[in-house]
Amino acid sequence: MGDGYGAKTTKKKKKSGGKKKKMAVEQTLAAKSVCEWVFLESLSAPITSADGFGVPKSHTRFADKMIFELHSHSTCSDGVLSPFALVERAYRNGVKVLALTDHDTMAGIPEALEAARKFGIKIIPGVEISTIFSPRGESGPEEPVHILAYYSSCGPSRFEELEKCLANIRDGRFLRAKNMVSKLNNLKMPLKWEHVAKIAGNGVAPGRLHVARAMVEAGHVENLKQAFNRYLYDGGPAYSMGSESLAEEAVQLICQTGGVAALAHPWALKNPVSVIRGLKAAGLHGIEVYRSDGKVAAFSDFADTYDLLKIGGSDYHGKRSHYESDLGSVNLPVLALHKFLQVARPIWCNAIKDVLQNFAEEPCDSNLQRIARFGKIKNLQGGLLSCGKDVLDLCLSSWLTIEERQTIDAETLSLKLSRAVINQTGIEVSVTSI
Ligand SMILES: [Zn+2]
Ligand SMILES: [Zn+2]
Repeated sequence: MGDGYGAKTTKKKKKSGGKKKKMAVEQTLAAKSVCEWVFLESLSAPITSADGFGVPKSHTRFADKMIFELHSHSTCSDGVLSPFALVERAYRNGVKVLALTDHDTMAGIPEALEAARKFGIKIIPGVEISTIFSPRGESGPEEPVHILAYYSSCGPSRFEELEKCLANIRDGRFLRAKNMVSKLNNLKMPLKWEHVAKIAGNGVAPGRLHVARAMVEAGHVENLKQAFNRYLYDGGPAYSMGSESLAEEAVQLICQTGGVAALAHPWALKNPVSVIRGLKAAGLHGIEVYRSDGKVAAFSDFADTYDLLKIGGSDYHGKRSHYESDLGSVNLPVLALHKFLQVARPIWCNAIKDVLQNFAEEPCDSNLQRIARFGKIKNLQGGLLSCGKDVLDLCLSSWLTIEERQTIDAETLSLKLSRAVINQTGIEVSVTSI
């Protein structure tokens, strides 16, 4: 969801001389700082990233024109492309930083990270959480709200906690899709549950889009838009609620697990002011403001009023319709990403600190795998790392800048891990503690 209807957008206005110069300096500094972060991992990783894809190695080649994509979906939720194919498309479209934000699952992140290493782009592990906002003490209806969560390369610091919440929502989606099918059947539109499940794919929690596709295939409607506009819209005759958590709770959970929380497509909300105000109080960091048709003035103003980050992305699903924006089509200024990173990096740094500290306190397999959950397994398998300290060094150098590393008591952690031996047996790494 998230095609904006009727919201005004603004194009950049001309700036006067002095102001323009100041902007240019600011922009150059932001680009430099963003570049440093984008290349952190590829510069420190012992494994080279390019293998036949001609990935540019030099920073300078694209410092002036960087494309960031902070909202996208794969086959792990209701997107059409696999995480690998999505990353490939992002690469072809010139995207340098891609956030994979599937609905209620992070299942696609490892594959996306693997692909990103090949194509030389940076992945922000993300998820778009389906929630319900219920206005307290204010009039207005409950409404579905999508919250984007962005994590550092090692993912959430308390992954199990987040996963439990996401699994609940996914279970609810199965039930919800079944309810929608039975509502359609009652509306004299016979549809088989198996049909919807088959469209969603093996193990994928079905969403409204999958139901809509089944409706098109069964000939009940002409296209997806008609399916949504007539039957599946929020509160529509075949609409059904899932078992989403409360929006405020989701925002709090994101904050507690080391993520950045942002409100997705606020233009799709009935009561955006009440949602933004409520979620800001819960710890919301940002809202989507940029779309492929420009910056949405009204939400940019809200972001200023409530001191929120201004971000945006295409919400690409690969629907092959002209209504959908292509991956990387949103012109997110480098300054916006810089501001996003200024907020995100201290949060991510603390999450990384947590994960590494747990490993140092208890250098066991499960804590090691928590570190390697989203992608450093390769280096462990390569025989390059022989003790816990090597893992620590690799993580610190690939995840944190020199400045950030100084905020961590690496010496104490190193000492604790220097005698934790890792035996190389693939993913089944065993660690003996001191
Ligand atoms: Zn959404
Ligand atoms: Zn989305």
